[in-house]
Formats: sequence, structure tokens, C-alpha cells
Amino acid sequence: MLLERIKVHSESLGDRPALTAGEEVVRWGELWPMAQGLAAKLREQGTGPVALIGDPGQVWVPVAFVACLLAGRPYLPLDPLLPPAGQGELLEQAGAVLLDRQRAEEGFSSDLSCPLPDDPHRIAYEIFTSGSTGTPKLVEVSLSNLEHFLRWASALPEIAAVLGGTAVGQAAWSFDLSVADLYLSLLGGGTHVALTPAEKEDFPALFRRLEKSDLSLLVATPSFLRLCLTEPSFGPARLPKLRTVFSCGEVLPPAAARRLLDRFPGVALLNAYGPTEATCAVCAVPISREMCGGPLPIGTIGEGAVDISLEEGEIILTGASVSPRFGGKYSTGDLGYVENGLLYWAGRRDLQLKYKGYRLEPARIEGVLEALPQVERAAVLPRRDGAGQVKGLTAFVEGTGLEPEKLAQALADLLPPYQIPGQWKLLDRLPLTPNGKCDRKRLEEML
Ligand code: AMP
Repeated sequence: MLLERIKVHSESLGDRPALTAGEEVVRWGELWPMAQGLAAKLREQGTGPVALIGDPGQVWVPVAFVACLLAGRPYLPLDPLLPPAGQGELLEQAGAVLLDRQRAEEGFSSDLSCPLPDDPHRIAYEIFTSGSTGTPKLVEVSLSNLEHFLRWASALPEIAAVLGGTAVGQAAWSFDLSVADLYLSLLGGGTHVALTPAEKEDFPALFRRLEKSDLSLLVATPSFLRLCLTEPSFGPARLPKLRTVFSCGEVLPPAAARRLLDRFPGVALLNAYGPTEATCAVCAVPISREMCGGPLPIGTIGEGAVDISLEEGEIILTGASVSPRFGGKYSTGDLGYVENGLLYWAGRRDLQLKYKGYRLEPARIEGVLEALPQVERAAVLPRRDGAGQVKGLTAFVEGTGLEPEKLAQALADLLPPYQIPGQWKLLDRLPLTPNGKCDRKRLEEML
């Protein structure tokens, strides 16, 4: 259904921009022929996953995603913030070949055509996310998972009202939140605006872009929304067409929600929830000003994309958008509770964190540190603000001849910047619990 819709839009919407990033534009009329050309080449070349460096500033990247869907080959967007050694490690783990811009563009202009593939259960994309074992976890999402998510999300009244308009996405392609803004936009024949890394780092440029884009849908993490709210002109005078904000990926603090609703009285704010393993988001609930006195719900029981239940307090997802690898049922590791039919998030069973909107596992950082010859043991803990949001990472390290700058450099060779602790504490010995495990409670007292 998705590819068929993209084809029809491409045949009818001509000059209307389909995908934009910075000054780069691909128009609807160009999208299908470009994707066909690359898809035909990709099909000739093999069947395995196609990796791309998921730079949101480059508009060829989402065109290549569509080409991969058409070719029937999974695409794998890699985090552009990963250093080359880190990217190499993931490419090897996934057994993927890297597609670069030049080869993609040769395909776009090849004039070849590619028939629609017919297996709806084929893998659409693969994404690396954090895994509790400390090694990056590869999640495979099928086309039918993706289409199921899209059918659910596009039927939400707050989304249906803006389908076909302009959607702005803030997340990098390697973060599955971008699935919502990109594919809802492609499904509805709208215009997608990807915010470039340069725009995200330069406030005046960011607001110029938002204003110029004439957006009706904004898909963002609460961290990004809070950042935008620090700018007094982030309001309806500059963004008159904004109708829906889809907030997802981490806790939406009530104070931020209230500020957003005060700033944009006519806007619907959806608090959406879901892990990569169940395709972007599985539930969402419109947030009203009255709800902002306490923790905000993340969904309404019975109205999600999947069946949502609680087992010993853990949120369990069962249904058609759960990645095939989990056999249709995924235990999220998130704790939750239900009140008046609404689902609330209540923390994690494990140590997984959200920092600046990114999902990360302290065990991954600890593992890289402990692989260094001078490190005996390492523990990475979050520092939190009064509202419980992670504001930084602290590494506690035991070893010989330790120098924090060298340790940070060694991490930076393999991990993205948001995984490098900003604070280092060198200890003679990491405290242990009576059964010999790292005593994180005692370390917390030392933060
Ligand atoms: P990711 O796979 O990167 O989308 O991260 C999924 C995790 O983010 C979930 O398992 C939750 O821990 C967290 N998360 C996502 N959305 C929300 C939300 N609205 N409120 C609280 N936590 C969330």
C-alpha cells in the first residue's frame, strides 16, 4: 500500500516538493523515476542489506530508502555521528554493503525501471539500537510492520488532519522516530522537511527553516521541543500552520507540555510511545492543559497499534507492528501502569537511558572502556536534574595509569559524542555488592 501510494502521488503531484533538506529538493514528479532507477540497480547487485550514512541534511538518502523498499532489499541507516571505526564495526555485524551518494545518484539517473516486489513480509529496514548485552542490537522491521504502523498513525484524528501538509522531522534517519515524519509525509503526498545538522546547531537558522517550511506537523523528541521552547518567538506568529506536534521517544515532562500548549493554543500535542522493536510508536494520547498537573499518559488502552498488556508491571506489546524477530510479542523493559484507561510510563526494569533523546545502554560504554588495557572495571551512571531527566554521564573507572582525556579519546574512536561521559571519577576500587556485582547505589551517592 505504501509504495503504491508513493507511485500515485509521484504521477499526480508533479512539481510539488516531496523531500527537502536545507536547499536540496526532490519533487514528487522526480521521486518515483529516481527510486525506480536505483532500485533496478540494487536488485541486480544482490539481496542483502544496503547501509547508508543517515545524514539528515542530504535529500538523496530518503530517495534511496524508497529505492531499497522497491528493490526488496532492507536499508540500514547508520548514525552519522558515529566515528568511522564504529561505522565499520556495525557494517560488519549487519553484513551490509555501504551505498554512497555517487553510486546512488548514478542509479537515480539510470532510467531503468523496477517492478513492485510482492512479498509484504520482507524486511523494509534495519536499525541499530542499544541492547542490554552492551553490544549494539540490530532490529529488523518488515514492510508489513511499517504499513501496520502507518495505517494506525494516519488514522489518528490529529495526524489525519495534517496528512498531505508539510511535516518537519528532527530525528536523524538512524533513529526510528524519523519513520513517523518521513512515511506519514510520503503516504499523504505531503512535503517532508528534514532539519539539517547545521540548522539544529544554529538557532536563528533553525527558526528560519521552521518558519519558511510552513509546517503543519512537527515530529520531535521532548528534548528538542524543550530546546525550541527556550526561543521566545517559537509560537503561532512564526508557525501559523502548525496543527499537530507528535512527541515521542522519551518522557514528556508536564511542564514542557504545558508551555507548548500555552504557546500554541490551537495545536494538538500527542504524547506517543514505542520502541524501535515495535516500529516507531505503538500508542499515543492527546495531551490537554488539565493533564499537565502530574505525569502524562502515553496512550489509551485498546487504541494502540498493537495489544498492550502489563506483566509484573512490564509493558508487553503483541501484534502486527512488532518486529518479526520477536515472534509478534515484545517485552519492552519499560514499566507501566494503567489509570482510568490511560497507560503511564514508570521507568525501566534495566539500566537503559534516554539522553538528549538518544537511547543508550551504559553497558555499551562500560564494555568499550573495559576493553582498554589500562582499565580494570568501569561503571557509567546518569546524572539527573530535579525532574529526573538525564543531564550528563559520569564514568567511574578502576585501573592503572588512567588519564580521563585518553579514555574519552578512546571512546570517541568508536562511539558517537552523546555516549562520551562528561565527568570522570577514578577509583582505586569500584564498590561491590555482597554478591560481587558493581554497587551502583553506592556510586550514585558519589555523583
Ligand atoms: P527507541 O527505541 O529509541 O524509540 O526508544 C524506546 C524507548 O524510549 C522506550 O522503550 C521507552 O523507554 C522510551 N520512550 C519512548 N517514548 C516514550 C514516552 N512517550 N514516554 C516515556 N518513555 C518513552
